[in-house]
Amino acid sequence: MIETNPAIRVSEIFGPTIQGEGPLIGLPTVFIRTGGCDYRCSWCDTLHAVDNQFRHEWKMMPVDAVWQSVVELSGTQPVMVSLSGGNPAIQPLGALIDRGHGAGYRFALETQGSVVRDWFVDLDVLVLSPKPPSSEMRTDWAAIQACVDAAQEKPQVVLKLVVFDESDYAYAKEAAARFSRLPVFLQPGNHTPPRPGNEDASVDLDGIIKRMQWLVDKVTRDRWFEARVLPQLHVLLWGNKRGV
Ligand code: SF4
Repeated sequence: MIETNPAIRVSEIFGPTIQGEGPLIGLPTVFIRTGGCDYRCSWCDTLHAVDNQFRHEWKMMPVDAVWQSVVELSGTQPVMVSLSGGNPAIQPLGALIDRGHGAGYRFALETQGSVVRDWFVDLDVLVLSPKPPSSEMRTDWAAIQACVDAAQEKPQVVLKLVVFDESDYAYAKEAAARFSRLPVFLQPGNHTPPRPGNEDASVDLDGIIKRMQWLVDKVTRDRWFEARVLPQLHVLLWGNKRGV
């Protein structure tokens, strides 16, 4: 039996603001950032939702309470809800998605694809973001395939790949070849990610823009015409600031 009001480990709920990256870039969105992640990427930009040392900031919230926050933030008007983290796939989010759909809200989830859930099929958008070599994580391609299979072609499924360097770029090409039916979004990495407690620290925007230019050049020279190259819009607008 599906539990209708399970507790979700939440790091923060905020918005509406615009989605800053990936296929929904620019779309007004309320964000639910869950706490905890099975990865530890070297350049993680949400350590406050990953590292156990920040666990005291996370709250176990029943679906009812999470949903109440979303409704209040959106002024009861249906909006896109982004489920992010951390790795949101390790939280029980199926009942929340059901609740929101009943009120006309839509749900996008972003995950590295290490954990598969049967409720992926109920999402509207599933963003799979396998982590490249610069993250110092290892990819379980079978797990990512299982995520694609769990979606059963119901939500829109896309690949989003962060690229810092040549080996990340080669990895992105490999991922695109493995999942050739999925749209691909490439994003230049932020090499000056926020550190918890210092989120307003400035970013090296010049460096990020140079990396984006390099990436555009790579893609066009390679005639990789199916790939879309996008910045992290929120980083361009607000730097490393949290909650925007
Ligand atoms: S998978 Fe995402 S949230 Fe988890 S450590 Fe890597 S970048 Fe951070």
